[in-house]
Amino acid sequence: MRKGRLTVAYGPMFSGKTAALAEDANRLREIARRRVLVCMPEMDTRRSRTEIVSLSGARATAIQVADPFQILTLAAETEAQEVIIDEVHFFRQTTTQDGVESWSIVFVVKILLQRGVNVRVAGVNTNFLGYPFPPITDLIGMADDLVRTRAICTVCGEPADWSLRLVDGKPAGAGELIVVAGTRGEEGVAKETYEARCGRHHPFL
Ligand SMILES: [Zn+2]
Repeated sequence: MRKGRLTVAYGPMFSGKTAALAEDANRLREIARRRVLVCMPEMDTRRSRTEIVSLSGARATAIQVADPFQILTLAAETEAQEVIIDEVHFFRQTTTQDGVESWSIVFVVKILLQRGVNVRVAGVNTNFLGYPFPPITDLIGMADDLVRTRAICTVCGEPADWSLRLVDGKPAGAGELIVVAGTRGEEGVAKETYEARCGRHHPFL
């Protein structure tokens, strides 16, 4: 039986997903007096390790987890009523439950909802080649509420729904997949950046 409610926020990079989650977390904690657990994948080391921090500076205390199943343990230990998970597309582990192979994070969310915990997740809708980005796509299929976030195209200023990767300022396709994510432009290392683009200004859609 499903007693909790699942909200999925999805959209390109720079579309305010993390800001919305951080605001939700703070409102739920401070105004609704709910017990809130905020998690993010351990590999997301670009920003603070103990908070989710949006590009606009909104922040909320958070715990990094390496394995999605840790979220179940943490939620039980803290008696969380609300679980918020950022960057959910980075949880790439799979598990087999009830004879069905699925993303571990999908199974974890299912269990939380059965326990009566409300869950909010945010993730990027597509990768930088324009392909749907699981497990966010699977979670969209399970959601009670969907929030579509949009960014602004860096070329034309129109609403942008897609993420584009650039290496040394040039759009980078599948042929440049070997570049290590998060390189900072050190000498001899290509500088990797991302931009939000509309469909007309994304070369790989
Ligand atoms: Zn555009």
